[in-house]
Amino acid sequence: MTYIGRFAPSPTGLLHFGSLLAALASYLDARAHQGRWLLRIEDIDPPREHPDARHAIPQTLERFGLHWDGDIVFQSDRHALYQQALTQLAEHQQAYRCSCSRKQLLLRSGSSCYDGHCLTAAPAIDQPAAWRVCTHQAEIQFTDSIQGTQHYRLTDSGDFVIRRKDQLYAYLLAVVVDDADQGVTHVVRGSDLLDETPRQLHLQQLLGYSHPQYSHIPVACNTQGQKLSKQNLARPLDDSKPVPQLRAALRFLGQNPPAALQYASRDELLKWAITHWTPLSIPRCMAQPWRD
Ligand SMILES: [Zn+2]
Repeated sequence: MTYIGRFAPSPTGLLHFGSLLAALASYLDARAHQGRWLLRIEDIDPPREHPDARHAIPQTLERFGLHWDGDIVFQSDRHALYQQALTQLAEHQQAYRCSCSRKQLLLRSGSSCYDGHCLTAAPAIDQPAAWRVCTHQAEIQFTDSIQGTQHYRLTDSGDFVIRRKDQLYAYLLAVVVDDADQGVTHVVRGSDLLDETPRQLHLQQLLGYSHPQYSHIPVACNTQGQKLSKQNLARPLDDSKPVPQLRAALRFLGQNPPAALQYASRDELLKWAITHWTPLSIPRCMAQPWRD
């Protein structure tokens, strides 16, 4: 079987320890399976972008010895593909225009779960509108390689937005279209995205795509218990010292390089990690906070 994995950061900030975990785990899993490992920059939300991230992310990965296959794919170049998928859904009556604001929805139903209002009361053609996909209250079940069997009902979100009122495509649509277009077979990423997975599976089903195998690694949290993220100012990775950070990331992922590798170079350490990659040792949730 061919294995195609990927790392798909959004350029809203520089890579930090949490991003390194996702990059490293997906890289090692791909390489251990003699697979390809792709790099995709998810730059579909320009207002949220960090000006340096687009160039800094690939540089940091290179400094950490995580070399990807093929060209970097930028989502900002791929709007035509997302539009094609949206048109396909609309033509099959699986997506519809919606002009409701969050406030209107709250006033109407007292919750942020979409009530299907515009499915029967379509907004005027010249009115700015988002696009929502029909969820049919579907039940989704899948088995995550690390988190085990997951059951969801798509009733919590209701019909969800795939293109926003400001014309930007939603992350959920773009990621599903790209994974299918790039032939991605395995998705290894942080467990903060576990709850997004059922909606992605639903879209894959409606669009006639196959489902990748998902593995959600635990996310690193700071000492306050918050997930490391650009929003809570996680410190960027230090490009000048990849080895200690790689070593810490391997330990976090339950992979323990032997003492003999104490003075190993970056490439020796990665080579060991590929050969001895043991996904079964990855903990389901993080054991202790990350202190940097
Ligand atoms: Zn609506």
